[in-house]
Amino acid sequence: MSCQGGCRCGCIRYRVTGAASEQFFCHCESCRRSAGASPVPWATFNVAHFALDEGELVQYTSSPDVQRGFCRACGTALTYRHATRPLEIDVMVLSLDDPTAFTPRYHLWVSDRLPWIVIGDALPRYPQEKA
Ligand SMILES: [Zn+2]
Ligand SMILES: [Zn+2]
Repeated sequence: MSCQGGCRCGCIRYRVTGAASEQFFCHCESCRRSAGASPVPWATFNVAHFALDEGELVQYTSSPDVQRGFCRACGTALTYRHATRPLEIDVMVLSLDDPTAFTPRYHLWVSDRLPWIVIGDALPRYPQEKA
């Protein structure tokens, strides 16, 4: 299975292949500010299964161990990499052409959830990282 995605302006196009190892919502403040929305749905892939077809990601170091990839032209948040998981890349599900392909399975960082974000599903919820 191969899925394509990209940024708002189309400068950046990428593809992911195979199944995601994780699919989750993140409610953390860093994701919220980076995406301008909350919660942010992510899907985790092996880095070998992520490829850029067009354009180049700009990397922003949002925490000492975290690199967030975005589009220089339109600002769309696209990827997340953590130094402790060098073989993995998280892809922002909303940037995929078909976001329905990767339904979130749990919520992370619910401790940062805004009071007016009401979780209406029965998925597992974790205060911070997955236990
Ligand atoms: Zn763009
Ligand atoms: Zn987050």
